[in-house]
Amino acid sequence: MYGRMRLTGSALDIQDLSHAYDGRRAVDGVSLRVEPGEVVCLLGPSGCGKTTVLRLVAGLEKLQAGRILVGNQVVAEPGREAPPEARGVGLVFQDLALFPHLDIGANVGFGLRGLSAGERAERVEGLLRRLHLEGYARAWPHQLSGGQQQRAALARAIAPAPGIVLMDEPFSGLDARLRRAVRDEALHLLKADRMTALVVTHDPEEAMFMADRIAVMRAGRIVQIGRPREVYTKPANEFVAEFLGDVNRIDGVARGGRVETPFGPLLADGLAEGQGVHVLIRPEALRLAGVAAGPAAGPTQGAVKARVLAARLLGRTSWVHLCLNTDPTHRHDSAVPGSEEHSHWHARVPGQFLPEEGTELAVSLDAGQAFVFAAGDTT
Ligand code: ATP
Repeated sequence: MYGRMRLTGSALDIQDLSHAYDGRRAVDGVSLRVEPGEVVCLLGPSGCGKTTVLRLVAGLEKLQAGRILVGNQVVAEPGREAPPEARGVGLVFQDLALFPHLDIGANVGFGLRGLSAGERAERVEGLLRRLHLEGYARAWPHQLSGGQQQRAALARAIAPAPGIVLMDEPFSGLDARLRRAVRDEALHLLKADRMTALVVTHDPEEAMFMADRIAVMRAGRIVQIGRPREVYTKPANEFVAEFLGDVNRIDGVARGGRVETPFGPLLADGLAEGQGVHVLIRPEALRLAGVAAGPAAGPTQGAVKARVLAARLLGRTSWVHLCLNTDPTHRHDSAVPGSEEHSHWHARVPGQFLPEEGTELAVSLDAGQAFVFAAGDTT
């Protein structure tokens, strides 16, 4: 079946979508194209409009402005909307209940057409097994836990390999361990059948795990779209940098195209003289003397003394709390504006690195993982 190239997924084209509830803008000019077979995550904080976009694509919300195309066919534009069942989309929504009068096997097999009874049973059993629901085919929905119902709903949506799968926080009801296992299986299932998927989540780790591309949303708009690596390592603004991962943050002022930091100056390209600047530094950008680290993303600079406040093992990495010594007598250049309030820093290093509290370390900076933004610029 998988020996030859098979392209099941359809393209999804969202064009200039806007939506208001009672006159309040929830979605504001969102455009996004999801290529066939691509998994795109809509990532953003609560209330930024992610679910509204998904509901509009699904046909669960009446379109107000914009156009939606599935496989190059218009499925919605103002005054002309295809019903949800005619859009070729599979839905996994938190509040989308299973059919209560059908057992789990019948729920999962519901959309399977054109298959023999044997093929149908095989597909249903395979999906139930992969989603850790083996043995539940004859159970009724009310006999399943919330998390099991969520997985059954996922199986039901994916079973017919629809042109597009829409998922809204599909793994949110699961505990951390099961969540990782189920989203891993979900990704395998999507990729095996080359399904196109648009997944809503507020969890950056989940988005980075699932997505070919991430569209970061804020206040009804997409503020950046790109591969997970791009949005993580080249955030378009402060909001994206902070939403995608931990940062150490210092304030400064642009002078001569640079901004001072405890690690020496960083480029502040294009910022006006005297402009207030926020510098965001990923914890993994701090290089601790004596710790083996991968290649740097940019030049490594500065070598500042720091005292260890605490160190914790987080599994594959260690998290080190540091008090940076920004006393000017320790550096050749002058004191850093605002650095007094920001002497508590976090470093993330690979593997086990657990120095005693009070240990003195030399810390340098991988400048490729430090981001400089104009203060107050959230565009
Ligand atoms: P969450 O992650 O919390 O679900 P979200 O990013 O998915 O958030 P939406 O559910 O799309 O955001 O909501 C966007 C905005 O629209 C919010 O301010 C919300 O309060 C509002 N909103 C959503 N649905 C309705 C509705 N049916 N009636 C009125 N306002 C709504």
